Amino acid sequence: MNIPCGREDIARLFQNCINNGKLAQAYIIHGAEGMGKKTIVRYILSLMLCDSHSSCGGCLSCKSLDANTHPDITELKREPDKASIGVDNVRDIKNEVYTRPTMSDYKAIIVHEAHLATPAAQNAMLKMIEEPPDKVIFFILCDTLAPILQTIISRSVVIDLKPIPMQGLRDIFGTDAEEFELSLCEGNPGRLIKLRNDPDYAALRDEVTDAFASLAGADPYAPYDISARLDKIKENKEEIFNIILIFARDAYFKKNGLESLIINKDKMNYINTFSANLSAAQCCRIMQHIITAQKEKGKNGNFTIAMTMLLLKCRAEM
Ligand SMILES: [Zn+2]
Repeated sequence: MNIPCGREDIARLFQNCINNGKLAQAYIIHGAEGMGKKTIVRYILSLMLCDSHSSCGGCLSCKSLDANTHPDITELKREPDKASIGVDNVRDIKNEVYTRPTMSDYKAIIVHEAHLATPAAQNAMLKMIEEPPDKVIFFILCDTLAPILQTIISRSVVIDLKPIPMQGLRDIFGTDAEEFELSLCEGNPGRLIKLRNDPDYAALRDEVTDAFASLAGADPYAPYDISARLDKIKENKEEIFNIILIFARDAYFKKNGLESLIINKDKMNYINTFSANLSAAQCCRIMQHIITAQKEKGKNGNFTIAMTMLLLKCRAEM
């Protein structure tokens, strides 16, 4: 199996730990959806479980991993109709955890979406991690660390999946992806796949950019008009905030002569018009208002009010 693009450092770390027989009892693999948690764990397993610990692809263990039939892998997943992983789900895997590996040198327990495990379920997991059965290694996958019990974190090695650099993304997507698309996904390959497969996203980006750019025009009521336009598509509120933040950042780069860093290269006419009468400092303050609004929108559930207030603040900077 090939090392996942952009994850060479993690692959090296595990290869060393396995060669030296120094694997930790538990690893927390932490990163937003789309960052490749499952991909890197699969690669780690291909080292750990392979007969020669080299991800050879040819041994029985590697073949079983490929076929998803490896007997030394146990996965703990949320049931599709449930919102969380409960203590019963953890009890279900208890026997597996306490039996010895049958094919490989190690046994892997993979906990998916651990951020959705209830505190009781996490405490049950903690017991297993605290009394480690020999050769059993836990991989705890989570989108965010916040809900994970401190007692679990302190007994695990936390691996934070950083955004994949541009070259890594180019290696993954090849010439298939436009440069602005690579920039837009901010190092998250899953997000790029999602954006590219979503025909609605291009239309959303066009509409939001067109609406937000009009803020710099002569109309003093623009904040209210734009807010009303965005209100019609507010089910995409996460993306709306992202799109306007990236746009404002592009305007800031434009004013600083850093055009190579601009993401929306296909929207230069909007960026030029928007930033024509603004200074770099004004663009910077507009970005800060957007970042603050983006953070606070979770607290204030009303998108329309939050967006109108934001647009008024941005307009006041102009
Ligand atoms: Zn092998």
